[in-house]
Amino acid sequence: MVAVDFPSSLHFIDGEWVAAHDGGTLDVLDPATHQVITQVARAGAADVDDAVAAARRAFPGWAATNPSERGALIHRWADLIIAEVEALAAVEAQDVGKPLSGGRTNIYITHGIIDYFAGAADKLTGVTLPTRSPDYLGYTVPEPYGVCAIVIPWNVPSVLTAANLAPALAAGNTVVLKPSEIAPLAPFALVELARRAGFPPGVINVVAGLGPEAGVALTSHPGVDHISFVGSTNTGRAIMANAARNLVPVKLELGGKSPNVLFADAALDTAIPAIVASITENAGQNCYAGSRLLVESSVHDEVVERIAAAMADIKTGPWEADLDMGPLVSAAQFDRVSGFLADAPREGARLVTGGTPGDGWFVRPTVYDQVDAGMRVAREEVFGPVLAVQSFRDTAEATAMMNATDFGLLACIWTNDVSRALRLAKDVRSGQVAVNQFHDAGVIGFPFNMQKDSGFSRGGGYAALREYTQEKGVAIRLLAG
Ligand code: NAD
Repeated sequence: MVAVDFPSSLHFIDGEWVAAHDGGTLDVLDPATHQVITQVARAGAADVDDAVAAARRAFPGWAATNPSERGALIHRWADLIIAEVEALAAVEAQDVGKPLSGGRTNIYITHGIIDYFAGAADKLTGVTLPTRSPDYLGYTVPEPYGVCAIVIPWNVPSVLTAANLAPALAAGNTVVLKPSEIAPLAPFALVELARRAGFPPGVINVVAGLGPEAGVALTSHPGVDHISFVGSTNTGRAIMANAARNLVPVKLELGGKSPNVLFADAALDTAIPAIVASITENAGQNCYAGSRLLVESSVHDEVVERIAAAMADIKTGPWEADLDMGPLVSAAQFDRVSGFLADAPREGARLVTGGTPGDGWFVRPTVYDQVDAGMRVAREEVFGPVLAVQSFRDTAEATAMMNATDFGLLACIWTNDVSRALRLAKDVRSGQVAVNQFHDAGVIGFPFNMQKDSGFSRGGGYAALREYTQEKGVAIRLLAG
């Protein structure tokens, strides 16, 4: 079922829905039923060539468009999205397997992001610079890069499409997007609405295809001026190597192993449901998922018991049942998570609840206690509903545990002690910090930034516009007139 209609078996290049050169297609599956929802084109190098060429042709005209007009067009796109919230929510939910209400939340976020950058398009400015004498003038001009290649994963395809396309377009770039072969439908539905909004041909191009085929062809293409990648850390390394050959800048948003750090003085009634949601939302398949719980030893037993009880109450089902949690997205994801379920008890972790796969690609929410920092489940990204619990005695130990992974995406600190919260926020090596909440609710334009093996980027707010521009410096000597 595809509610915002776009043609089956095609992708979008130069303002048109077209077939792959060799006519290849990919099946897109419903993760709950394993039934084919629809097909999309399977792009190869020739299709990527077409998409990059179309984006190159469109670039000068789009970059020269008055930024207020660019913003107005992006606003029109946002308006079409909000008018189709229910249809788009169903597309996102079915494709990823998440509950319908989760899909709806994602589409509201998608709309908010696109609306934000529509408003920002004509507020991007350079600066004038101080000079050594009045006979000089210096200023900077932000300029778009040109053709931006954007490669995204399957877990929140609508939001990641918005988070990258909107700032790139607002800043005057043209784009070639490659969504994941596993869940490409929301990006396709969004691009169909962009077509209806009236973007000129070639400004937005979307090719579907496999990573080793379309992904490699796009990120190693000499016609690309900037690469933005969201996905796993290993793929990020490969893409950065491709970028090095063509000497183009890359923005990498990669994996995570985010801690919830819970002190005994925290508001447990607020913290516990949020911690459970942080690892069960989207079946734990979020880059910022709260996959580690570091809990002060004096409240450890109570907290673990309450979390296990809440986890045991989680109801799972297909997207349209709109329960708490759906299945994992694919057989590969299911195998990956099953591997962690096999290894964690073998390495000595104590299973508290869950631990067993369900039918199909469903996995019960799982809690492991007495996790040691060296165990895989403490160090590696599971990308499933699996929580690893460790306990600490004091702030110093909590800080060391918090920083004891290769990742640095998000850290959430739960305490009523302001000084302690501020100290941990300072000492954590992480691109984002939340205090007494999970993630960024309540903050507009929050930076979606990463450190360590989670990547590097300036995403999220106004800084994302800068990420999609290069800065030119101009120095002028004012001759006597
Ligand atoms: P993945 O790295 O396997 O794939 C991501 C995208 O890259 C897909 O479109 C895929 O087709 C493409 N790809 C794969 N190999 C490629 C190659 N060699 N060259 C070019 N493109 C290639 O990741 P995934 O399994 O789709 O997604 C899960 C990962 O994404 C997790 O690690 C998660 O943490 C991460 N993620 C990060 C963020 C963030 O903002 N930091 C957000 C969402 C997801």
